[in-house]
Amino acid sequence: METDELAARIRAGERRALARAITLIESGRADHRAQAQALLDALAATPGSALRIGLSGTPGVGKSTFVESFGTMLTGQGHKVAVLAVDPSSARSGGSILGDKTRMERLSRDPAAFIRPSPSQSALGGVARRTREAVTLCEAAGFDIVLIETVGVGQSETMVAEMTDLFILLMAPGGGDELQGVKRGIMEMADLILVNKADGDLKPAAERTRADYAGALKLLRRRPQDPDGFPKAICVSALQEAGLAEAWREMQALAAWRRETGHFDARRAEQARYWFAEEVRRGLLARLDHDAAMRTRMARMGDAVAAGEIPVARAAAEMLALLGTAP
Ligand code: GDP
Repeated sequence: METDELAARIRAGERRALARAITLIESGRADHRAQAQALLDALAATPGSALRIGLSGTPGVGKSTFVESFGTMLTGQGHKVAVLAVDPSSARSGGSILGDKTRMERLSRDPAAFIRPSPSQSALGGVARRTREAVTLCEAAGFDIVLIETVGVGQSETMVAEMTDLFILLMAPGGGDELQGVKRGIMEMADLILVNKADGDLKPAAERTRADYAGALKLLRRRPQDPDGFPKAICVSALQEAGLAEAWREMQALAAWRRETGHFDARRAEQARYWFAEEVRRGLLARLDHDAAMRTRMARMGDAVAAGEIPVARAAAEMLALLGTAP
């Protein structure tokens, strides 16, 4: 299919065209990459205006259940919801644990929803980069809310935060020492902490956990991009669909405030800058790793350095000069 036709079908909201385009974007083949680039160019003329929401939490905390009920609530309100995933573990396991449609039965059958599991690629950076492009495609296809799921392990969260407008942390009720397990950096990224499973026997523990997080969030430095009271911690039950409307109200309030104060657009602008720099860095690394002449040169230069024939700094400077970058 020609790029223009594919672009037109995506704009018309055809889900099969969208799925196909995302496959194109995820492909490692050079000709696919060129087509994907052309497609993104073609769609750049009609930018979407979706709210991009990042959602993170350790396995078992209830992400799939939450996405299922929260997503269904949103489509019930007339929204079109796309669900994407950045899954650092899929490369290892070969399978996908995020965005698994069998765990989101209702939402995957919902005509107003689109769910795309994480691609299994070797590098997390590669997955994240492609997911960011998939967001653009979903927006062009008319989805006004894009949820991006990831698991609570290190760098994937930073990457998801770098491509979303709001970052939500999903937590489970715990016995009091769970706060130590949450890295400060991740707390600092969170706009909203949702303590899930606040139902049945777990309800009192969930409320205590919520209070602990609320206390911890208060100790963080006040961020200029937040109105009073944010970041917040609230209790939800994804299973019983409790607290979801409140969570959504908080998200909307925060997004509206940021839109009015200019922080929303400023964050998008900073993100564009981040991904631009990231692409350039990756491009340079790819040249070092995949360009045969470069690889040979690197190996030879490495031998020379190892033999003490040339100092490290000089060898590096020569390589960088070859790459066209002054050290
Ligand atoms: P994920 O690994 O983060 O995607 O977690 P899942 O959505 O697969 O949920 C893990 C387990 O927690 C499942 O057995 C769910 O039924 C359960 N669970 C999820 N949400 C809730 C909730 O709100 N309350 C209770 N009690 N259990 C939940």
